[in-house]
Amino acid sequence: MKNDTLDIQVRQEQGFRRTVLIVDDEEVNLRIISKIIEDEYDTILAKSGEEALEIIREKKDFISLILLDLFMSGMHGHEVIDVLQEDEELKKIPVIVLTSDKAAEVESLQRGAVDFLSKPFDHPAVIKARVRRSIELSIDRNIISNTGTDPLTGLLTKQFFFQYALEYDKFHPDQGVDAIAINFTKFHLVNELYGRSFGDKVLCKIADGLRNIARSCGGVACRLDADIFYLYIEHQNNYDALIEEIKKHLEHIMKPSDIRIRVGIYQDINRMDTLHQRFDRAVVASNMHDKSMQSKPYVIYDSAMHEQELYEARLLENIDQAIKNDQFHIVLQPKYHVQEGEPKICGAEVLVRWDNPKFGRISPDYFVPLFEENGLIKELDRYVWSKAAKQLGEWKKRYNSVIPVSVNVSRVDVFDPDLTDFLLDMIDDNGLKPSDVHLEITETAYTDSTSQVLNVVKDLQFLGFKIEMDDFGKGYSSLNMLTSLPIDVLKLDMAFIQGIASGNREMKMVEFIIGIGRFLGVPVVAEGVETEQQYRLLKDAGCDLIQGYYFSKPLTPEEFESAAFS
Ligand code: C2E
Ligand code: CA
Ligand code: CA
Repeated sequence: MKNDTLDIQVRQEQGFRRTVLIVDDEEVNLRIISKIIEDEYDTILAKSGEEALEIIREKKDFISLILLDLFMSGMHGHEVIDVLQEDEELKKIPVIVLTSDKAAEVESLQRGAVDFLSKPFDHPAVIKARVRRSIELSIDRNIISNTGTDPLTGLLTKQFFFQYALEYDKFHPDQGVDAIAINFTKFHLVNELYGRSFGDKVLCKIADGLRNIARSCGGVACRLDADIFYLYIEHQNNYDALIEEIKKHLEHIMKPSDIRIRVGIYQDINRMDTLHQRFDRAVVASNMHDKSMQSKPYVIYDSAMHEQELYEARLLENIDQAIKNDQFHIVLQPKYHVQEGEPKICGAEVLVRWDNPKFGRISPDYFVPLFEENGLIKELDRYVWSKAAKQLGEWKKRYNSVIPVSVNVSRVDVFDPDLTDFLLDMIDDNGLKPSDVHLEITETAYTDSTSQVLNVVKDLQFLGFKIEMDDFGKGYSSLNMLTSLPIDVLKLDMAFIQGIASGNREMKMVEFIIGIGRFLGVPVVAEGVETEQQYRLLKDAGCDLIQGYYFSKPLTPEEFESAAFS
């Protein structure tokens, strides 16, 4: 490919026009053709084959098409074509020959010209149409013949796909277009359960199906990464049949119940949006799949999602300022030990609260994932941990005792190379020991990227920090994996607790996990415990620690102080 995507994108944003080289030894012909196409293209004029070749060598990256006279004094047009054909790069530039000789037209095509224009010249509209068509075809060909395809599925890579989409827009300025994101959820499970080669087979099947669909809808498909696909196709009125087709295609190799795809569609894209925005919106819609109650197998980006997007963008403005202005607070939710006599506070989880002056109190369930997406979480978490450590240090001095607190460590934090240093400094600065601070890391952080996370967390554990595995049971760790993970506490996923009743499935799951805790020799915490009945069941099952509204909501530091130290 001559230009990379960025280059083209920049040029397009600057009102990029394509350049056509016109070669004719008669001045008047140069002027006629130039006049006809100059409202759409920049033109370069050459009066001989020799001059043309010189220009082509120098500007090959910028010339989209050559209009070439055959009978010229000096080099003949066919000789020029021959020279171009011998060069891998130059032969990609399409050539249209200009001639009045019917026989020469055929020979030109055989030598490698893509089209011809008869002299005397046709109607200007015909000339323009042929010029446009030739450029379009050559772009398609270049894109496809280059190595911009995914080796597994043969679909375009993202870079080439975006390049194609830009070209598509240019040549179909009035066509309604849809951007579609297709996400194969939990695809790693297919790999893990049936083996990688079967996983690859499934991906190829999906790719085949999407390629056919893209073709029949006048568009193109790509594989973005592992299990996410994009389509850029003519606007469709009905997607039910299309999605059914994808599913049917897969049913030959998989059980229908195992096919879990999330499709998001940004319909009739606004051309003012960049390509990235268009596909981000398709992805936003696809992510709404689980939340939306509709039974359709796809979600269409709508104005509510747009509003949401704008709101989130506003929330994320000025985070530095928000931190400086003390908009973030910590609260502490006590953890009670329940197996030795009266339930007693033996720790707490630090949770962040955001009081936004414009939007009021915002739930961390809402903003933490947002912050994780764009890296802001690192700054916020450091702020929260420091606040907690400072508070803990003060209490340690005042009461000469410590109640360890746990802080949440996002999976993003684990990839921060300064994490360990930061935590050690923080401990030092506040007169604490590493064991005074527990780090809650969710189980799913291990599933995604095991070795990196594993090494960092093992180091932290080695240094004395206590590692609590948060939301356990939500991800899926194999028993085998669990024995090699650095874990000091298992924290049951709240979802199990909500549904427990004597002898039911959730209760059995809880008992099973408590058994795992025993086997690993670590205490088990249940969080989200709201009722007396839940508390009794958990206590009887041998659960060590309980956190939840039944005992206490998250408390301000002052409230916690009087509850814990009195
Ligand atoms: P999590 O770590 O699983 O935290 C437990 C959540 O359950 C907290 O919600 C807590 O207030 C809530 N909860 C506690 N007891 C009960 C109960 O009895 N019933 C119910 N329904 N809920 C209960 P919160 O504070 O809204 O936090 C939500 C999530 O946000 C947390 O889930 C955690 O993933 C994240 N988060 C909170 N603070 C931080 C932070 O400082 N850093 C990071 N990275 N994430 C945080
Ligand atoms: Ca937690
Ligand atoms: Ca949790």
